[in-house]
Amino acid sequence: SGAQAQGKELVVATDTAFVPFEFKQGNTYVGFDIDLWAAVAKELNLKYKLQPMDFNGIIPGLQTKNIDAALAGITIRDDRKKVIDFSDPYYESGLAILVGDKNTDIKDAKSLSGKTVAVKTGTATVDFLKAQVPDAKLKLFPNIDNAYLELATGRVDAAVHDTPNVQYYANTAGKGRVKVVGSVKSGDFYGIAFPKGSELVPQVNKALATLKANGQYDAIYEKWFGKKP
Ligand code: GLN
Repeated sequence: SGAQAQGKELVVATDTAFVPFEFKQGNTYVGFDIDLWAAVAKELNLKYKLQPMDFNGIIPGLQTKNIDAALAGITIRDDRKKVIDFSDPYYESGLAILVGDKNTDIKDAKSLSGKTVAVKTGTATVDFLKAQVPDAKLKLFPNIDNAYLELATGRVDAAVHDTPNVQYYANTAGKGRVKVVGSVKSGDFYGIAFPKGSELVPQVNKALATLKANGQYDAIYEKWFGKKP
């Protein structure tokens, strides 16, 4: 029944570091996902506590129901839909390559062949590169910040991760040291994730539709990404 989720304090997982969707500022987590969930929870009168964790632990945590919901820029995929449920899509994304600012030989996915590429454990990027560039040497990091540091200090040839995260990093902490060489994949969508069969899914979809219709979604979008093109 719909009353159950409203009665308890939900455990809502987020990633520990995925700018600008969730990241630590002082002692609190801020970002697009954090604001979006706050608006959804208000709409549905839900109590919750945020639980930041490595991305790699989120889907297993939903499967064991230690987590009631998760927002971590989680890409909706058919294989994941077999083990968890997703809300309707809330953000369109893709994958992009990041290189050192002086790099000239990496231009697209194909040019990653034989290169050392920093990626984040358990993410869609790992599967994408294994399928598309099987001879790229992947260096795995649970936290993307460490992957980007590895690139900025010249210990890998490139990093590949979600486009909005790569772009945000290149324009902020990585400015002057790294550059984005382009998108290697588009048409991915993020969804809020739940344990299979969660009663929250239809409620959250309804709340997302309300927030899109009443302008709150757009206000949160513009706060973190600027005006939509
Ligand atoms: N979109 C990526 C995936 O679902 C993960 C993004 C992130 O690092 N939080 O695999």
